[in-house]
Amino acid sequence: KQRNPNEPEFVQAVEEVAEVIVPFLQTDAGKAYRDAKILERVTEADRIFMFRVPWMDDQGNYQINRGYRVQMNNAIGPYKGGLRFHPSVNLSVLKFLAFEQVFKNSLTTLPLGGGKGGSDFDPKGKSDDEVMRFCQSFMTELAKHIGAYTDVPAGDIGVGSREIGFLFGQYKRIKDHFMGVLTGKSLQYGGSLIRPEATGYGNVYFSREMLKERGDGLEGKTCVVSGSGNVAQFTVERLIGLGAKVVTLSDSSGFIHDPQGVTAEKLEWVMDLKNYRRGRISEYAREFGCDFFEGEKPWRIGCDLAYPSATQNELDERDAKALLDNGCKGVFEGANMPCMPGAITLFREHRAMFAPGKASNAGGVATSGLEMSQNKLGLTWSRETVDEKLRDIMSDIHDKCVEHGRVDNGYVDYVRGANLAGFLKVADAMLAQGLV
Ligand code: NDP
Repeated sequence: KQRNPNEPEFVQAVEEVAEVIVPFLQTDAGKAYRDAKILERVTEADRIFMFRVPWMDDQGNYQINRGYRVQMNNAIGPYKGGLRFHPSVNLSVLKFLAFEQVFKNSLTTLPLGGGKGGSDFDPKGKSDDEVMRFCQSFMTELAKHIGAYTDVPAGDIGVGSREIGFLFGQYKRIKDHFMGVLTGKSLQYGGSLIRPEATGYGNVYFSREMLKERGDGLEGKTCVVSGSGNVAQFTVERLIGLGAKVVTLSDSSGFIHDPQGVTAEKLEWVMDLKNYRRGRISEYAREFGCDFFEGEKPWRIGCDLAYPSATQNELDERDAKALLDNGCKGVFEGANMPCMPGAITLFREHRAMFAPGKASNAGGVATSGLEMSQNKLGLTWSRETVDEKLRDIMSDIHDKCVEHGRVDNGYVDYVRGANLAGFLKVADAMLAQGLV
């Protein structure tokens, strides 16, 4: 906390990991890592770039934003992690995301280090031309620091296929290289099938594994989902495909409650609304005749399972209590760090299923890793091949969490399992590489 004043999100993410790792370091098995000060080293970024992003709006006014790239740790592979464009972006948020990414990428079984970047630019309400000019300016600086074997950014909040296209175009123009320096590309120029679906699908596959561990399944379960962006959309698609019912969606203005359930047709309408018309989720309530709750989050709606898929710290202790009181049996983080520490403590105390994002939302970056492999091989794998690899990876991550996370009475503490398994792989690589 003293080293990182004014970085509450970063401190929160480190504390969550330290809560598991510090006791382990006190044991005989942890001695080598303690002596080599691995925890102190992984909490310090390898390097951080901060830069000015000047661009011109449609009215001819000069605009200035701030750009960042946090290269956190490359012990097991090139830095890998998304770019976020949102007004709330600051150094603390990106350091927390980059730190989480290190352990998440380690869990995927793929050779990927951890990084994160972005800008306080708000794509909402901007024209395509403005977004393009911003992306070109952002990449003009970022291109100096990334590369297919150095650092491979991807999308995140506010960075979808439109933005990745503009960023890739500018990188290619500057470097004169056609290579897989970004993931989340469109299919025509090196993208992978299933990458857009991967985070949401992956979280659903992970929750299915957790339910299976308890002798249960997804069929017939009522689910609440927050968000209505990339992760939320494909979480809903997979859940309804596997026989569950989804009754909520949200965005930063509030949530809709559709007791009839979001059908495939309604979801298609949401995808058009959010991805092309760039509208608000409140329009769903008008279109399909259900309730919209302005400025609220969906956690007080009764459900069996919850999938927070919007943003960090969107579910607090009070929300957790409401979920548990209303019969919720499991919470699976699609977003990064959506549940606040008090909420996580409550879920664990109640022995509810709780999947931390670094395990349950790792399907996105894992499929980005598969996109990098395809780019290097010059191949395009089929939808079925990538989906099968994604399912296998989520199942492997689940098994690792169980291996390291089983505590008393057979309860699996997935927070413990994910943190320990993620840490150990990175720590062993750092030990092997000496004092770097
Ligand atoms: P999108 O930009 O596609 O969607 C984000 C959604 O969350 C939108 O519905 C947005 O609403 C809502 N949201 C954003 N900020 C806030 C806020 N402060 N309060 C309430 N709602 C908010 O992003 P993604 O779906 O890609 O990402 C969602 C989460 O998942 C993030 O935490 C991200 O880091 C994480 N994640 C994403 C991965 C991916 O592959 N995309 C991979 C792993 C994790 P509005 O439109 O009103 O802003």
